[in-house]
Parts: sequence; C-alpha cells; structure tokens
Amino acid sequence: TRFSSREVRRTFIEFFEGGHGHRVVPSAPVRPRGDPSLLFVNAGMNQFKPILLGTADPRSELAGYRRVVNSQKCVRAGGKHNDLDDVGRDVYHHTFFEMLGNWSFGDYFKEEACAMAWSLLTEHYGMSPDRLYVSYFSGDAGSGLPADEETRDIWLDLGVPRERVLPFGLQENFWEMGDTGPCGPCSEIHYDHLGGRDASRLVNTASPEVVELWNLVFMQYNREADGSLRPLPHHSVDTGLGLERLLAVLQDAPSNYDTDLFRPLLDHIHQVSYHGDHINYHTDHFRPLLDHIHQVSRCGPYGGRVAAGVEGRVDMAYRVVADHIRTLAVCIADGVYPGMSGPELVLRRILRRAVRFSTEVLQAPHGALGSLVPTVVHILGDAYPELQRHQEQISAVIDDNEQQFLSSLQQGVRIINKTAPLPSNHSIQPLFPAPVAWSLHRNLGFPLDLLDLILEERGLQVDRVLLDQLLDTQQKRRSEGGTGSESEIQLDVHSLASLQHQGVEHTDQGPKYQYNLH
Ligand code: ATP
Ligand code: MG
Ligand code: MG
Ligand code: MG
Repeated sequence: TRFSSREVRRTFIEFFEGGHGHRVVPSAPVRPRGDPSLLFVNAGMNQFKPILLGTADPRSELAGYRRVVNSQKCVRAGGKHNDLDDVGRDVYHHTFFEMLGNWSFGDYFKEEACAMAWSLLTEHYGMSPDRLYVSYFSGDAGSGLPADEETRDIWLDLGVPRERVLPFGLQENFWEMGDTGPCGPCSEIHYDHLGGRDASRLVNTASPEVVELWNLVFMQYNREADGSLRPLPHHSVDTGLGLERLLAVLQDAPSNYDTDLFRPLLDHIHQVSYHGDHINYHTDHFRPLLDHIHQVSRCGPYGGRVAAGVEGRVDMAYRVVADHIRTLAVCIADGVYPGMSGPELVLRRILRRAVRFSTEVLQAPHGALGSLVPTVVHILGDAYPELQRHQEQISAVIDDNEQQFLSSLQQGVRIINKTAPLPSNHSIQPLFPAPVAWSLHRNLGFPLDLLDLILEERGLQVDRVLLDQLLDTQQKRRSEGGTGSESEIQLDVHSLASLQHQGVEHTDQGPKYQYNLH
C-alpha cells in the first residue's frame, strides 16, 4: 500500500498548511452548534457559515480566518443531504465520512483553487490525469444564473483536455448546504476507476466506475428562507474531498470498503459472526456445527458483491454494519445518543438497522456490535481522539440500546414472517398490510425504514397509501393534544397474524390484503 489513511490525511493538511499558508482548524463535533437548519454536520463548511455570511463576531478568532484547511467528521443521514438509503447498497456512500477541505474567505478564488486541487491530486498523490474528469456549472435560465465559463477556461488552461471538461446543471453543479444557507456554483473532480476508454458519459450517473471525489464550491450567494438568492458580502472558496473515496483510488482498491479504513472492521465483523473463526469453537465438537451454519447462512468473509440475492445481501449487511458502527461511535463520542427526536432519532434508526443486519443476516451473537468499537477506535482514534476518550461509554450505549431493541426485533420479525411469508410461486406479491406496519412501528418501536428493507428482500412493499393515512391521523391527534380515540386502529400485535387469512382483493393498483380494523 502506497498511502495509508493517516498519510493521506496528513499529506492533504500539509499541502495546504505548509505549502499554501492555510491555518489548520480541528473538526467540529457532528452535532451542529447553534444551527437549527441542520440535523448533523454534513460538510466541512458548516462551522464556517458565519464567516461566509459575514455575520461572524469581529472579535472572534473565526473572523480572522482567511485560508483554512481541515478534516471534518460528516454525517449525511437526514435533512437535505441524506444518504442513508444508499448505504450498503452502493460502495461509496457512507452515513459517516471524513471530508477533507480547504477554504478561502475573501482571499483566493477560482483560479488558485483549481490549480491547487489539480497539483495535489496529480503531483502529490500521483493520480494519472487521464483518469480524471472535471465539471463546471452550465447555468440555469430559470433562476437567471449564468454558466461558469470562467472555471471551464481555467481547467482548459491547466491542460485538461476539452473532452474531459463537462458542463452540468443545478442538480450536480450548484451546491447548497440545506434549504437555506450559503451556496454557489461548483466544479467537481471525478475519477475513472477502470481507465482506458472514454468514460465521460458515466460522470454523475451513480456508476461505481466513475466516482465523484472533490467538490470546489465558489460561494457567492445565500439561499434565503423565501427561496431567493442573496449575494454574499465577499466571494469564498469551499471545497470538500471525501477521504474514503480518495483512499480507494490511492490504495488501488475496488471500493471504499477495501481500504484500510474499513478492511480491519470487516475482518472483525467476520470474526464475531457465528460463521467466523471463533477460537473457542475450534474443536471437533463445534467445527461440524459451524460448517453447517456457514453453509446454511452462506456467510463467507466480505466479498464485495453488490448483486441482489443471498450473497449480495450478506455483503450488503457487512457494509451496513461497518458503516453504521463508525457512525454510532463518532456520534456517541460527540454526545448524540440514540433517542426519540431530531438527530437522536436518526441515530436510533441507524442502531436498529445495525442490530438487525448483524443478528439476523450475519448471525452475529448479541453484543457483537459493541465489541467492534475498539476496532473503530483503533482506525480513527488518532485523527479524532474523542473516540479514545469515550471508548467505553460508546460500547456501553450500543450494548444497552441493542439489548432494548432485541426482543422487539424478534417479535417484529415473527409478525412479519407470519404476515408476509417468504415469496412463493405467486407471480405478483400482495402489499404488506398497513395496519400491521403501523402497529409494528407504534407498539414495538419497529423502525419503518427497517421494515421496508426487510420487505424489499422478499420482493414486497408496504401499503404506503394507507400507512401514510394512518401516520397522518396519528400526527393530527397528537397535535390536537389528545390520545383519546386511537383505539380504533389499536391492534393487538399478537393477533395480527390472523390478518393474512382474510384474503386478497385484486384492485387496479395491484392485489391488496383485506383486513378489518378492530
Ligand atoms: P454524491 O453525488 O456522490 O452523492 P455529493 O455531490 O452529494 O456526492 P458533495 O456535497 O459535493 O457530495 O460533498 C463533497 C465530497 O464529499 C464528495 O465529492 C464526496 O467525495 C464526499 N461525499 C459526499 N457524500 C458522501 C458520502 N455519503 N459518503 C462518502 N463520501 C461522500
Ligand atoms: Mg450526495
Ligand atoms: Mg454529486
Ligand atoms: Mg458534489
């Protein structure tokens, strides 16, 4: 391996600090301070928002920043930037990731920003220019925003061939922090993992072959609450380079999960799963049993597959568990605990997903999740020492929450099994009954996103229309302050299984379960 994650992080910081006069600012905690527009810190720029807006207290240290470099802990699992549903399915979106970034606050602008980025990637990290594509903002007539031809020409002047400089619209090349906040046209650098052909049509297509690495945002506006764009007091540069994706390139790895940030974690997950090599079980007594479990569960070590089917499912579970345990550790270290609202609720969902995938799919014993924490700390503790300081606390919170959820999980899965048997030879599957979903959610605290995932594995969907109605009704009652007449949709979870026997009705929207609300 040419570059370890530690070296790659350090090289980035040193390039901008020593080489180009940037000040090193530590990562902010993942819980945003004093910004109700955010659930979690989702980009390196969040802590610098007051500088960009020109609202920083002039006596504060912040107000003095001109050039800054940092490595920011980011969580994208809620709000405008929410990648939770992609995690595990693809190999390059995480709920927690590290964003390397450099900033100019009213100092250098587009030309220097592009030149520095190009020099760092091609000279210092040694990437071959013929694997790189760059993009620029093509403008948007609707909002009266002009094309960023200046940036296009800067790339051409830096020697990037014309066919590798690609225009994109608002969606891809106009970056916004949230529904409100600083924003502006951006220019991105994408990497072609295969090489040897024209891959320009794969840029920005969610293909694992050509992956977005670095976003250079030219901050020029603030998105106001009424949706309008207000010009900012000065022009700034805000960049974000995903460390995990950068490492996949520099370590010549097929994906983020095959780098030194994930590999030891995946190996550890394999070890703690029942089919793994438990030292204690290396006896004649256990071996045949383990081999049998291995065969029936077909859980080998992590294999990197993204395919549908059993193998894909196991590898997805590996990725979900590896991703989620990092997020849990980082959030808990920063004081966000699994809970009932806001970021806490998101973290609770993440924990419950992790528990489900580790126990149900990977057959790991209870407590396995918490036992992974030292490996996370080993990998990330140097860069983020708060992980070391809170290691025991993190494990304890995870163990407690796992314990709390396990009986609900088991009960919920039993109900799901009874309600929606594994796909048989029916060509069309009926919708999963909404009252059952609603009751799992309400009475067992079974996360609906987790139910969706489990149903998807069986080629099923919940009856979304009716479920939304039930959730709406509940919401309205709650806001009216009463819990009074909810009994009409209060179902006894133990009697739910009988619902399936009430038959299937064929409607225009496809087959539906028939059920009576008691
Ligand atoms: P994508 O299009 O791949 O979802 P993005 O355009 O949403 O990425 P930006 O907001 O531009 O990402 O963030 C800057 C950089 O942070 C990206 O170029 C990428 O390297 C990295 N990044 C963004 N989201 C994730 C994620 N969920 N996991 C890992 N890295 C990420
Ligand atoms: Mg994204
Ligand atoms: Mg993108
Ligand atoms: Mg981007």
